[in-house]
Amino acid sequence: MSKYICTTCGVQYPESEHPPESCRICKEERQYVNPLGQDWTTLEVMQANSDFKNEIIQEEENLFSITTTPSFGIGQTAYLIRENGSNVLWDCITYLDQETIRKINELGGIDAIALSHPHYYSAQVKWAETFDAPIYIHRDDQEWVMEPSDRIEFWSDEQLEFTRGLTLHRLGGHFKGGAVLHWPNGNSGRGILITGDIIQVVADSEWVSFMYSYPNQIPLPAKKVADIAARVKDLKFHRIYNAFHKTVKTNANEAVQRSAKRYISALQGTLFKT
Ligand SMILES: [Zn+2]
Ligand SMILES: [Zn+2]
Repeated sequence: MSKYICTTCGVQYPESEHPPESCRICKEERQYVNPLGQDWTTLEVMQANSDFKNEIIQEEENLFSITTTPSFGIGQTAYLIRENGSNVLWDCITYLDQETIRKINELGGIDAIALSHPHYYSAQVKWAETFDAPIYIHRDDQEWVMEPSDRIEFWSDEQLEFTRGLTLHRLGGHFKGGAVLHWPNGNSGRGILITGDIIQVVADSEWVSFMYSYPNQIPLPAKKVADIAARVKDLKFHRIYNAFHKTVKTNANEAVQRSAKRYISALQGTLFKT
């Protein structure tokens, strides 16, 4: 029996004798199945391959990024945030080894894990068991949890302060339960929003975007984009971190407002002539 991991999205499935027939996350239109065919691995196989390791980098005071190299699955970065004596893991990655556990324990371990959306569920249950932490996932995305666990706490409504000083906001869009993490004390009290794929930092890092599917380039309705911008307008944040180690460094709330206007104008045909 093994817990199989899809190599395209990095999501781990419950213990089974044979790999699942397909990956539900990848078969859905927001992801894609490997053109060479569905492929599986396990954490044990990855650990035996000495190429993999996790890089932990301090990004700024009380904020660390955790990224697997070489890149695995979608290649996202998770973040460890220290706030009010608690350590929170925002989003998750698949790979975990003794060296990572040692380094994270040196930083104080993990008290809670919170997820932006199903593309980063990865090996969240393994991480939660290893560090004895609960996992916070919005109830609207419950159907996308491939490996059930009684450590998962499904939250409802539009926001949840799950740790003092750290609040989840359900913005939806990319996924119905898509959430961002607001950290008002981050960046020396100027405020940080960590957004996963829910608000995406684009190539020009003074701008962001909002998509239903990034790999398949399916946009969101104008009404939803306006709603996301309105929902964060009154939150105090100066900086955004996305899931790929990219940031809007300053004036990030203004960047969200201006980007939403541009996006809607493009959808309505008023941004440019073509
Ligand atoms: Zn997959
Ligand atoms: Zn995604």
